Amino acid sequence: MAGIYIHIPFCKSKCGYCGFYSLPSLKLKERFLEALKAEIVGRKDYLASEGMSYRPQQPIDTLALKARYDMGCKGSVSMPSEAPTIHTLYFGGGTPSLLSIDEIGDILHLIKDTYAIAENAEITLEANPDTLSPEYLEGLRRLGVNRLSIGIQSFFDDDLQYLGRRHDAHHARQCLDWAKQAGFSNISIDLIYGLPTSNAEQWNKNLDVFFAYDLPHLSAYALTLEPNSILTKQIELGKARPINDEDALRDYGILCQRAKENGFLHYEISNFCRRGMHSKHNASYWFGTPYIGFGPSAHSYDGTSRQWNVASVSSTFAAEKEELTPEQLYDEYVMLRLRTHWGIDLKWLKREMGERFSTYCEQHAQPLIAQGRLSQTREFLYLTDEQMLFADGVAEELFWES
Ligand code: SF4
Repeated sequence: MAGIYIHIPFCKSKCGYCGFYSLPSLKLKERFLEALKAEIVGRKDYLASEGMSYRPQQPIDTLALKARYDMGCKGSVSMPSEAPTIHTLYFGGGTPSLLSIDEIGDILHLIKDTYAIAENAEITLEANPDTLSPEYLEGLRRLGVNRLSIGIQSFFDDDLQYLGRRHDAHHARQCLDWAKQAGFSNISIDLIYGLPTSNAEQWNKNLDVFFAYDLPHLSAYALTLEPNSILTKQIELGKARPINDEDALRDYGILCQRAKENGFLHYEISNFCRRGMHSKHNASYWFGTPYIGFGPSAHSYDGTSRQWNVASVSSTFAAEKEELTPEQLYDEYVMLRLRTHWGIDLKWLKREMGERFSTYCEQHAQPLIAQGRLSQTREFLYLTDEQMLFADGVAEELFWES
């Protein structure tokens, strides 16, 4: 079981708050597509490489169901020689929906010719409303894309203008109607909260619209100021209204409450879903499933090492690599799992990484539990809705001290 991520680094223009690697022009598109195709073929053995010995963790409800590989840090079992089947494919960006249907089709065909893709693979494409039309969405369906992640951000024009988005609220709604008409049922949208143009009432209305569309998945992020973003500079110059933590905290509380009332599972700090409708691709990051990333700034993970492509479009994507020690693997496990409702599985930790890690983790967890910053149910350490916002600080206190 493994995943593929494809980074499409182009946008029509830069949103005010953006901190991602993306170019606000399509000038380098042809060069990028050529390099991307070369990388897809050239790295076809990455996921079956000899260095790969791992035992991906599974979500609690599927733990018993999947055959798994052993983990390198505790006596490994040899990996099958053939490459693992790909169960998730994710076009992220940037704005993947800036590519034409033919261009996306070419990439998909090449991937299917080069890798073993599961028949029921989750194929997600991130899209921005200003690039969508009914014809385009129907084209994506025909290609086999079966999940959309749409960057709506808000259903209010004043929020969208503040964020420097290219679409308006009317078009945001139109896109959701078109996506449903084109046959998509697995649709996620992004919303941003903690905006100075909004308030509790407006944020509630945003959520009203989301729930009225009866979509299975929501990703909601607090607005953060990225260094060197347009919005950060505008605020520094006094040309845009500043943001404050109280607004974000208020909106986060509303979000958690409304999600619960509407039967959504809060399965990761920023992600909410109907039962069984979590992003399989993103969950694979949290469960240590290997994945290969193509395109500038894309990351890859083979079970024992991380690799990341340099954030630049050229004829090849140069990569840097880091082998992970057992201690680093432990830190990653703690950090990633605390962000999710699945939490840290102490039994798994003991069985797969060794007792020294599970004992260390449990001991260091006790003061945090006493302070009300961490919760425990039997062998699981996890964070409640209220505690989740401070996941990074809690994780730091559980990290391995060398
Ligand atoms: S669409 Fe996304 S990646 Fe592109 S500029 Fe806006 S925030 Fe950045």
